[in-house]
Amino acid sequence: MSGTEKSGQARIVAADSAGAIDEAAKILRAGGLVAFPTETVYGLGANALDDRAVARIFAAKERPSFNPLIVHVHDADEAAGLAVMDDRARAVAAAFWPGPLALVLPRREDCPLSALCSAGLPTLALRVPAHKAARQLLQAAGVPVAAPSANRSGHLSPTTPFHVQESLGAAVDMILAGGPCAVGLESTVLDLSGPVPLILRPGALTPEDIEPFLQQRVVYDSGDQQKPRSPGQLLRHYAPGIPLRLNAVDLEPGEALLAFGSDRFMGVRGGGAARDLPEDSHRNLSESGDLVEAAANLFRMLHELDRPAHRAIAVMNIPDKGMGRAINDRLRKAEAGSRSK
Ligand code: AMP
Ligand code: MG
Repeated sequence: MSGTEKSGQARIVAADSAGAIDEAAKILRAGGLVAFPTETVYGLGANALDDRAVARIFAAKERPSFNPLIVHVHDADEAAGLAVMDDRARAVAAAFWPGPLALVLPRREDCPLSALCSAGLPTLALRVPAHKAARQLLQAAGVPVAAPSANRSGHLSPTTPFHVQESLGAAVDMILAGGPCAVGLESTVLDLSGPVPLILRPGALTPEDIEPFLQQRVVYDSGDQQKPRSPGQLLRHYAPGIPLRLNAVDLEPGEALLAFGSDRFMGVRGGGAARDLPEDSHRNLSESGDLVEAAANLFRMLHELDRPAHRAIAVMNIPDKGMGRAINDRLRKAEAGSRSK
């Protein structure tokens, strides 16, 4: 599934050819990956409700780490069903959607999206794209679509379908072609989840464009207007409220288990077996040892085990290859974060 495992190239289909949008929508609903044009850059889309589909994005991009993704929706009402939109969010949405602005907002309690879209964080980045083909695709798919730029990690953001084909090869199921991107620059990411509006990623829209609609100063996340930080730096990472213990080969009494692969022979110190743990203390990222399945389950299962009733979460060793590198990167950050709580 990671571009290197498959050979060949994905099919490029003109978005305005007969049946193209419907076929792409069908692939998305079935858990596949579709690259599609937006006014900023080409996006690599997956059904945002589907853990496994979202995990496939990270596999296709060969990202060494899980970053939260921008979820694309058809309109502001759909956004309001997923995240909490206060008056500020409504005002900028009314002014700039559809358009090149992503808003980071608190996830609603009942938000049905995969936790992987938020990389475990309590916030969600949402955008309503303006490109005609993107809008038709969202409408036809009828689901929110998580979509980072459609390039392999470390490659340039794609602004033509051929860039996507070159960069992702056969890791994507279909490429919808809609010509070159009009803006060609990533969307501006504006964080409205706290009291001060923060630009997390500079992009097509500037603070000067946005400020009149907020009646509030917009600042770069560094607090220094002159020196915007690069996107990854500012990102807070999900950390559980209880300690994590990595590379566990057995359990201490009171610990919950996050397993990977077979845990049939895992024991509890002082007597007992992991398989006899109560249901709410035991999750398996992937019994068959499938790293994409493990990625799909990671943040949801950590949240499910993160309860004060447990003294810690013991996590079994995860091989440091393919998607395993991104999983281990996040587990190490979560472990460090839980230690400093
Ligand atoms: P890309 O997926 O390549 O379009 O990039 C998405 C950008 O949005 C990255 O800079 C992310 O760090 C940022 N982002 C997305 N979701 C969140 C979030 N929940 N909190 C903070 N930043 C986010
Ligand atoms: Mg990108």
